[in-house]
Amino acid sequence: MPGRLILRRFFSSSWNGMSYVEKVRLLDYWKLHDSKLLGDFNKSQLLLMIDKKPLIVGAENGGMTLMVNSHAELKRKLGDYGLVFEPANSCLLDVVPNAANKDFVPLLGTSVRTVEPPEDSPVKREDVMKMLATTLGGRFMDLRMAMLTLAEERQRNLLATFQSLMRWADIYRRCPKCGTALKMRLSKSAAECTYCVRVYYPTFSPVAITLITDPTDEFALLVRHKGSVNGVYTCVAGFAHSGETIADCAKREIAEEIGVEAKSIRSLGLSQPWPMPDSSLMCAHHAVCNMGDEIDVCFDELESARWFSREEVAKALKRTIEDPMLRNIPRDMAQRQELVYIPPQGAIAHRLIKLWAENKFKAIK
Ligand SMILES: [Zn+2]
Repeated sequence: MPGRLILRRFFSSSWNGMSYVEKVRLLDYWKLHDSKLLGDFNKSQLLLMIDKKPLIVGAENGGMTLMVNSHAELKRKLGDYGLVFEPANSCLLDVVPNAANKDFVPLLGTSVRTVEPPEDSPVKREDVMKMLATTLGGRFMDLRMAMLTLAEERQRNLLATFQSLMRWADIYRRCPKCGTALKMRLSKSAAECTYCVRVYYPTFSPVAITLITDPTDEFALLVRHKGSVNGVYTCVAGFAHSGETIADCAKREIAEEIGVEAKSIRSLGLSQPWPMPDSSLMCAHHAVCNMGDEIDVCFDELESARWFSREEVAKALKRTIEDPMLRNIPRDMAQRQELVYIPPQGAIAHRLIKLWAENKFKAIK
């Protein structure tokens, strides 16, 4: 669609909001036209990550939310600390209304790196980060912790997009075919090789994440991954191989990890982008396995795989909801293999296990 037409439609829309189609087309326009996105950079709203830690602030409901900053405010506050942000270290995330100008502006993510002060400096990097967070009115949180604890799905997905695009742009510097330096779009939505005239798009890997139940639906099989936090059990998950359907992947991962052939696999129509360690798309499935089949755990990946009753799983769910940061994890190694927690609320595994524990699983068509 020609950009001029999109712009005319966009600017003719009144301040009653923007339709979904107009929003998608404006985002596409910014993705395709660096000069237009650059022109709107000074008007943008921004999410900030410093040293891969997102800036978080307390939300009205008592939870945490990503902090949105205006361009002018962020420029002034970061400038006081000698830090700069620019289009090169920013990516396009969304379009948001700017009430002050009755306008729609880009929501960008900007990723800033600090440098370690000299060894003889009396100032430590952590102290500077704390002061900076205070100046900005929020705090910096570990990326994984933020993904696991942000309450809103949209926020988690924005953060996943932010981290995934910046990581891809950081790694994808040269054309894989000819080695020429790539021209990265400002939005980080694509990179072009001017020699091959090829366009490359951000990469991500599909993952099947599967909750296993028995045929009566009264028991679920959960697993403990090697090196995971004491007392935490979760669903089986693994990357799809080339040429597999996502259901094939779910069935193969169950066979690989616990040595059991699933009787049936169904997609639950739920998915979640996840940015660590690389960008992936977690696609939720339900598998039915016979409890009588002998479990043969693959100890390269797992520590344990066990059947639990709905009551046992519901207790672990309750504990996780009451203690979302898993502060009371068992220190006693004897309790390491017990089902104490499930993953925190930000993980799709939490959502799957919660649906099953609340007996709402079968209702998903
Ligand atoms: Zn090339």
